[in-house]
Amino acid sequence: MPSCTLLVIGGGPGGYVAAIRAAQLGISTTLIEAESLGGTCLNIGCIPSKALIHAAGEFHKLSQYGPDSPLGIQAQSPAIDIARTVVWKDGIVGRLTGGVAALLKKSGVNVVRGWARIIDGKTVDVDIQNKDAGVLRITCEHLLLATGSQPVALPFMPFGGPVISSTQALSPSRLPHSLAVVGAGYIGLELGMAYSKLGVKVSLIEAQDRILPAYDAELAKPVLAALKKLGVDLHLSCSVLGLNEKGILRLKSAQGDETGLAVEQVLVAVGRRPRTEGFGLESLLLDMDGAALRIDDQCCTSMRNVWAIGDVAGEPMLAHRAMAQGAMVAEIIAGGRRRFVPASIPAVCFTDPEIVVAGMSPSEAAAAGLDCISAAFPFAANGRAMTLESTDGFVRVVARRDNHLVVGWQAVGQGVAELSTAFSQSLEMGACLEDIAGTIHAHPALGEAVHEAALRALGQALHV
Ligand code: FAD
Ligand code: NAD
Repeated sequence: MPSCTLLVIGGGPGGYVAAIRAAQLGISTTLIEAESLGGTCLNIGCIPSKALIHAAGEFHKLSQYGPDSPLGIQAQSPAIDIARTVVWKDGIVGRLTGGVAALLKKSGVNVVRGWARIIDGKTVDVDIQNKDAGVLRITCEHLLLATGSQPVALPFMPFGGPVISSTQALSPSRLPHSLAVVGAGYIGLELGMAYSKLGVKVSLIEAQDRILPAYDAELAKPVLAALKKLGVDLHLSCSVLGLNEKGILRLKSAQGDETGLAVEQVLVAVGRRPRTEGFGLESLLLDMDGAALRIDDQCCTSMRNVWAIGDVAGEPMLAHRAMAQGAMVAEIIAGGRRRFVPASIPAVCFTDPEIVVAGMSPSEAAAAGLDCISAAFPFAANGRAMTLESTDGFVRVVARRDNHLVVGWQAVGQGVAELSTAFSQSLEMGACLEDIAGTIHAHPALGEAVHEAALRALGQALHV
C-alpha cells in the first residue's frame, strides 16, 4: 500500500501550491486530482473568465470606433467568432494546466488522477481514472483538504438546459440573444458585463438593493454607471421565482410586484459553496464553520494533522488566499513556525472599471475602533488615465490619524487591478503615509494616483 508524509486532495491553486512547496522542502507528497490540475481557478474560474473578459473588451472597443471617434479610428462592422475565442481561451488554460503538471513533476510530487474517498484521517481510497482503473489505497501522516467549492444552485431552478453556471458561460458554443444573470456579485458582474460587451442583451437581477453589495458603495458607483452605459437592464431588490417552459423568467420586486422577462439563458451566480460532500469527509466529524471547514490560524482542522485550505475552508474564496495557505501548511509540516495572519488579502473585481480593495475601508476602520484619516485622488486629474480615455474612478487611502500607518487602500478605475501589488506591499510592510509620499512614482502612470492620495491625506496634494 503506497504511503506518503503529505497527501493532498485537490489540485487547485491551494492544493498544487502546497504540494510543490512541500516537495521542495523534502516532504514525500502525493496529490490526488479527479478532474484537471489547476482546479477551478485555471480551468473554469480566474483565468478563463479573464480571457473572455479581455476578448469581450477588445470586441466592444472596436464596435465603439465609428465616424465620430475622437481618436480618429474607424472600424467597420466588427464581428466575433465566439467558438474561436473559446479555442483561444482553452489554449491559455491548456498551457497553464500543462505548466502545473510539469512543475509538480519537476518538484517530485506523485500525482494520482482519480476521485479521493476518505477512509480515516490517515487513509484515502482513490477511484483511479486511467486504464488501470481500480481502487488505490494511500496512507499518510498528514492529510490536506483542498477540495475547493461548487456553484450554488437555486433549488427551484437547477442547472441544466438554459440555466447555466459560470462554467458553461465561459465556454459558449454560440452567444445567446439574451441572458439574465442572477446575482450581481463577482461572477454576475464580470461575466454579465463581458456578455453585454459581446452584444448579448443582459439583464441583471440582484436580491440586495445595490450591485456588488460586498463592496463599499462609492467603489460600485462607476461600475453602475458603466453598466447603464452598456444598456444592462438592472433589477435590484428583486427575487427570481422561476423559469417557465416558454423561457419567461418570473421576478418579484421588493414591493411584491411580479413581472416576466423573456430570456434565452439564465446565468445563476449567487455564490459558491465549499465542496465538503461526496468523498467521505463527514466520517471525520470535523468542526464546521457554517458550510465551510473550521480551521485555526495554521489551517489545521479540529483533527490533528488534518489540514484545510482554500475555498473548502470558507471566505474569502480567492485563489491567492488558497495559494498562500497552501505554501504555509507545507512549511509548517516541514517544521516551520508559521501562522496565517496576513495584513491583507487583496480582492479585485474585474469589471470595467476594475475595483481593488486591500485592508480596511474607512467604515471598516471606524467599526474596528480606529481613528483614521482617508483621502481620495480622482483619475480625472491623472494624465495617464486621460490618455487611456478612462477618467472615472479614484484611489483612496485609509491611515491612522495618530501615526499615519496605512491600514487600507481602495481603487476603482481602468487597469487598477495592477495597483493591488503596491497596496498589499505597503500594508504588509507597515508603510506610513510619509513612506508613500516620499516614494518617487513613475510618470505618467495610474500609480501616481496612489502617491497623490497619500499626499492628499497629509494635506500636501499637488495635482488636485
Ligand atoms: P479549487 O480551485 O476549486 O480546486 C479544487 C480541486 O479539487 C478541483 O480541481 C477538484 O476537481 C478537486 N477535487 C475536489 N474533490 C476531490 C476529490 N474528492 N478527489 C479528487 N479531487 C477532488 N479567484 C481569484 O482570486 N481571482 C479571480 O479572478 C477569480 N475569478 C473566478 C472566476 C470564476 C468564474 C470562479 C468560479 C471563481 C473565481 N475565483 C477567483 C475563485 C478561485 O477560482 C477559487 O478561490 C480557487 O480556485 C480556490 O482554490 P482551491 O484550491 O481552494 O480549490
Ligand atoms: P458573490 O457572493 O460574489 O455574489 C453573489 C450575489 O448574488 C450577491 O450579490 C448576492 O446578494 C446575490 N444573490 C444571492 N442570492 C440571490 C438570489 N436568490 N437572487 C438574486 N441575487 C442573489 O458570488 P459569485 O459571484 O457567485 O462568486 C462566487 C465566489 O467566487 C466569490 O465570492 C469569489 O470568492 C469568487 N470569485 C472571485 C472573483 C475575483 O476575485 N475577481 C471572480 C469571480 C468569482
